[in-house]
Amino acid sequence: MRIRSICVVRMWISIYCATGAERLWHVTLTENYAVALVGIGKIARDQHIPSIDRNDRFTLAATVSRNASIDGVENFTAIEDMLAARPEIPVISLAIPPGPRFNIAMSALKADRHVILEKPPGATLSEVDTLVTTAQERGKLLFATWHSRFAAGVEPARQWLAARQIKRVHVTWHEDVRRWHPGQEWIWRTGGFGVFDPGINALSILTEILPMTVHLTAAELEFPSNCQTPIAARLNFADGADTPITADFDWRQTGPQSWEIDVETAEGKLKLTDGGANIAIEGESLSIPEQSEYDAIYTRFAELLARNESDVDLAPFKHVADAFMIGRRIETDAFVE
Ligand code: NAP
Repeated sequence: MRIRSICVVRMWISIYCATGAERLWHVTLTENYAVALVGIGKIARDQHIPSIDRNDRFTLAATVSRNASIDGVENFTAIEDMLAARPEIPVISLAIPPGPRFNIAMSALKADRHVILEKPPGATLSEVDTLVTTAQERGKLLFATWHSRFAAGVEPARQWLAARQIKRVHVTWHEDVRRWHPGQEWIWRTGGFGVFDPGINALSILTEILPMTVHLTAAELEFPSNCQTPIAARLNFADGADTPITADFDWRQTGPQSWEIDVETAEGKLKLTDGGANIAIEGESLSIPEQSEYDAIYTRFAELLARNESDVDLAPFKHVADAFMIGRRIETDAFVE
């Protein structure tokens, strides 16, 4: 990986001497933020590290992992050791599962650092509220990322649907858990979300693109007999206008994978495919520029820093919590990896 020198503030000062007495000072101030990445697992290696590396506003300055490290970057095995040893690092990005996230995020906020949270932002709704309050009290930023919202087709979909009457919505999120989560035991334990780990990505898109709010009315959750989290979920939503809105999440899909959202409107049909990367209206694909979701996450965080704003939207998380609250439990075959 490319290692950039770390400097907290890079400042370019250009001085233009105009003819006569007038002197124009042109000052460009570009801050570069050191980032500590916590959890060096699949998503850290696949996405966070390359995206931080590609972004001029951030530099990977330290990692926290009990088992892994990145060449050329100082690693710590405990967050407290990193926070104590590297007080100059202002941004802590958490790429760990939701279960252990709260304690680590709290440590970072109490040490007066800004915090980026992977999705889902926590194991419970209330703990994220506490993080929000703590961030406000400490004057630090909290960014609950929803990477799928940065898929290239999502913003065009939101714009196209904004003024349209929605007639029907169906989400199909079918993938092979053995292919995408090999060896990840945490997804099957309480607080691991099971099929909602990818399903919440679909819900993050849904809650971004629909012009109305929706709420869950019924759910069926299939739990393998040896797991604490579901392998499949079927959800029904209502919007107060009797619009049929359904979602089908399944982790047992072999062969082609399906991450699709179909929206029928009074003026035509919209389809998002490939997790929101592609969009078609009435069967015609729109030509949209490719976009790396994680590049867009770090660009967005640079904007939040510039505006001194946090960004925590819990809408997708609430639907998952509601599904666990009102969902009918169905036991299914034991999961064997
Ligand atoms: P992973 O490969 O299992 O890696 C998780 C990392 O978290 C490991 O490096 C582990 O670090 C650390 N960790 C696990 N339990 C911990 C604990 N109790 N205390 C401290 N650290 C702990 O998981 P992942 O797939 O990268 O997923 C991490 C997060 O990213 C999840 O919230 C997931 O939803 C999200 N995400 C994943 C993907 C994907 O494609 N996998 C895509 C988007 C988002 P050490 O054991 O080295 O300390």
